[in-house]
Order: sequence, then C-alpha cells, then structure tokens
Amino acid sequence: MNNKIQNIVIAGGGTAGWMAAAAFSKLLGKNLKITLVESDEIATVGVGEATIPPIRTFHKLLGIDEQELMRITNATFKLGVGFENWGQEGKNYIHSFGATGKECWAGEFHHFWLHGLRNGINADFGDYCYELQAAKAQKFALSKNTPINYAYHLDATIYAKYLREFSENLGVTRIEGKIQQVSKDHKSGNISSLTLASGQVINGDFFIDCTGFRGLLIEQALHTGFDDWSHWLPCDSAIAVQTKTISDPIPYTRSIAHKNGWQWKIPLQNRVGNGLVFCSKYCSDEEALNTLTKNIEGDILTEPRVIKFNTGRRRKGWNKNCVALGLSAGFIEPLESTSIHLIMSGIIRLLRLFPFDGIYQSAIDEYNNKLDSELNAVRDFIILHYKVTQREDSDFWLHCKNMDIPPSLAHKIQLFKDTGRVFLDDGDIFRVDSWTQVMIGQGIMPTQYHKIADIMNEKELNHFMSSLKASIANAVENLPSHADFIQQYCKSNS
Ligand code: FAD
Repeated sequence: MNNKIQNIVIAGGGTAGWMAAAAFSKLLGKNLKITLVESDEIATVGVGEATIPPIRTFHKLLGIDEQELMRITNATFKLGVGFENWGQEGKNYIHSFGATGKECWAGEFHHFWLHGLRNGINADFGDYCYELQAAKAQKFALSKNTPINYAYHLDATIYAKYLREFSENLGVTRIEGKIQQVSKDHKSGNISSLTLASGQVINGDFFIDCTGFRGLLIEQALHTGFDDWSHWLPCDSAIAVQTKTISDPIPYTRSIAHKNGWQWKIPLQNRVGNGLVFCSKYCSDEEALNTLTKNIEGDILTEPRVIKFNTGRRRKGWNKNCVALGLSAGFIEPLESTSIHLIMSGIIRLLRLFPFDGIYQSAIDEYNNKLDSELNAVRDFIILHYKVTQREDSDFWLHCKNMDIPPSLAHKIQLFKDTGRVFLDDGDIFRVDSWTQVMIGQGIMPTQYHKIADIMNEKELNHFMSSLKASIANAVENLPSHADFIQQYCKSNS
C-alpha cells in the first residue's frame, strides 16, 4: 500500500467531519488536497454540547480565538460535572476538572484527607478543590495568578458551522450530496471512491469516515466489526429537548440520575440543552419523555427527539486506507463528555502518523493500539459511575449494581477499597483525582491510606488542611459570578 497519499476525502460533516477538516487544513493543508462530502438530507446527531479541558489545546493548535468562538457558539464555561442521586438518592457530588489539594511525591492529597478524617477534620474532599468550589458558588474568572482548569458548553450545530467556515477559508472543498456507493479496489480492498446520488464520483487516496452511527465506509464497506459493550453500558436511548434559559447559566454540566437512567442539563448563554439517557429494556420512550418533561424548566424550544444507539466500539479505528472518527468509530456514553475529546485525540494521532508516503501496517497498528488503551480507560471510567451505586430502587439500578465489569475496572475499585491507591492505565485521559472524586463521591471509603500522610503530626495536619481550605474559599469569594464574567468576556449576540 505504498503509494503517495495526497488526496483526503472526509465523508460526513457533523462535529467529527468539520473538526477533522479544520485540523488537517490548518496543519497539513499545504501537503494535502482535502474534500468533505456531506448531505443536507441527512441530519447530524444534533447533540454533543459538553466538552472536557483538552479541547482548549485543540483550539490553540488551530489558532482559534476563544472569545470569538464562545460568542458565536453561545458558549458557557464548564468546570466539571455535578452528579446528583448517583451513589444514593439525595446524595450529590461534583467531578471537577481541578486538582484537589496538593500532591506530594509519594502519595496524593486524598491520603492526607483520609488521615484528617480519622483525626476529626470533617471536611468534604471537594472543599480542597478550587474549580469545584467555584462551580458550586457559580463563579468564574480567568486570571494568570490563579489558573483555573475549564472546558466549554457550546452549541454543537453552530460549532460545526464555525469549523466549516474556518476549513473552507483554508481551502477545503465541500461537496453537498448523498453518498450512495463506496467503491473498493479489487486487489487491495482499499476504498477508491465515493459515488453520490447525483452520479458524481469522488476519488481519494485516504478516507476519513465521519458518517455517524452508520459507519458508511468503516463498517458498511470495510466490514470492520463492532465490539458491543451494552452488557456493561446498558443505556441505548436518549431523548433530547432544548428549553429557554430562565436563570443565569451555571458553570458545570448537571447529570441527574433517575429511576431508569440519567438526565443532562447543559446551560448555554441563550438556552439549555436537556436530555434523558435511558435503557429501553427498563423504560419506554413515552416514560422517558414523561420523566424528562417533568424535570425541565423553561419553555420547550424544540420537538423532543429520540436517539437510539449501541454502546461499543468499532474493532479498528484505522482499517486499510480509512480512519473512523466520531460516532462511526463507536460510542461509549455521553456521561463524561468524552466523545468530542476522542474525535480530537483521533485527529491528533492520525496527524502524527499520517502516511504521506504510503500506508504501512506498523502505522495502522500503532494507531489502533493507542486507541485501544484510550477507549478501554474511558470505558472503565464510565462504567464505574453505574457500578458503584447503592441504589436498589429499580431493576435498572439493581442490574448496574450487580453486573459483571471488566477485570481492569474490578481491580481498580478493589485496590482503592483495600489500600486507597489509584494507578492510571496507559491511555487514561482522566487523572487520579478524577477517579478519587468519583469513587469517594459515590461512597467508597478506603480502609487505609498511604502512611506518607503521617509525615505531619496532628497540629501540622490541622494547619495544612485548614489553611488550604481557607485559601480556596478566599479565592472563590473574590471571583465574579459566572454570568457576569460571560457578560464582559464573551457575551453572545443571540
Ligand atoms: P453526526 O453528527 O451524525 O454526523 C454525520 C454526518 O455524516 C452528517 O453530516 C451527515 O450528513 C453525514 N452523512 C451520513 N450519511 C451520509 C451519506 N450517505 N451521504 C453523505 N453524508 C452522510 N459528545 C460530547 O463530547 N459531549 C456530549 O455532551 C455529548 N452528548 C451526547 C449525547 C447523546 C445522546 C449522543 C447520542 C451523543 C453525544 N455526544 C456527546 C457525542 C457527540 O454528539 C458526537 O461525538 C459528535 O456530535 C460527532 O458526531 P459525528 O460527527 O460523528 O456524527
């Protein structure tokens, strides 16, 4: 397969397609001819509005101006996800993007916190995290002196449009039309061209499949195969609706567990994105709609829309001369807003391995091996939220509580219970702090802590913990409200 690759074709123009077009045109536009095909007849999935912090690095790489992007996409700041009723009904916690406390070389902060608890310092783990406290207080500011780790809530449709304009300005050719046939080279099995309903044939050397759940190239043409993860991630449906904003936007995503699934609330400047993720085995579409409409505020702006999905992943992200990005590569769960991140990391990996001088199996293997590690780590982190619940109020939660889980996750939970230790696996996009925030937040209390925490005597520990907590409270006190900061930094016109 060692022919020069000069002509890339991106199939599909949702978030995945336009993110890929933007990155490739910005960084490799001088070396490659880039064409994107999308069909106005086939809608994008229309959800996917919460992100995680590395998206900022992606935008920096592209030279995107944050304030302009936020104004145009009606974006708000996101400091984490607030989980309500997950561990138990009535119990809430926030998984924030911030670091909790201060680390030391041998033991993370949670060991000091556990030591403090035994000494009668009864503060929440989250009291020692700046981002978490700012989220709770609904405050936000950007400052050089006190860095804050954040992501965005943004309008997915406008985001794709913004990236489209960005890419077209950099020379990407957009072709509107429905792909009807994917042709392959008989000898190599590589994809050679796409034929549109109009009869137009689009030839390419390398194809990026961004056609959404259909996986028109990666699955329907290349038969790559799909690993189904629904035995670990049983939700297979969502119902989405947008509502009018009735109060100031909060700087975090709300994830509210219900009897048969969970609800998201994503605050934008001009509206709120709402949805219920549920499992069709335990809940009908009608019941889901009922639950959702009972739990939203503000006038409904859009017709409620049901979206069906299978949790799992394409067996290979890169197969022959095709890489799948976005929903065509698989879907884990929107719970921790990882899908857009996975699109971005797939793009970066492909940029780094791009086969200018022909496709080598070693490059394909490297891409797929790294993807495997990344997906397994994300999968385990998402399953953790479902598995570590004490809820028994429905068959759905009983199933989650009692289900088998991947051995890698079972080990991680057991290690934390037994020793208080957390080690990250290769490819984990979350931090030790993320794992501890969720495990502690959902009620796991380790039986011991690392004795490095005993380095401080009782007096020193008291002083360390109370001054840390006070300095965070003080910094948060001095922040403007999230709404005020948006007003002066990136107020949208709509
Ligand atoms: P799509 O948006 O489905 O786009 C597919 C494109 O392919 C369209 O342009 C379509 O026209 C084109 N196409 C398809 N077939 C053809 C054809 N035959 N001919 C021509 N063109 C074709 N991700 C997050 O990061 N954060 C979240 O908060 C989040 N929430 C989600 C909630 C739900 C319920 C779901 C289901 C997903 C969520 N996601 C989230 C995932 C996120 O929505 C997607 O990763 C993202 O939108 C990318 O989608 P896509 O571009 O792969 O596919």
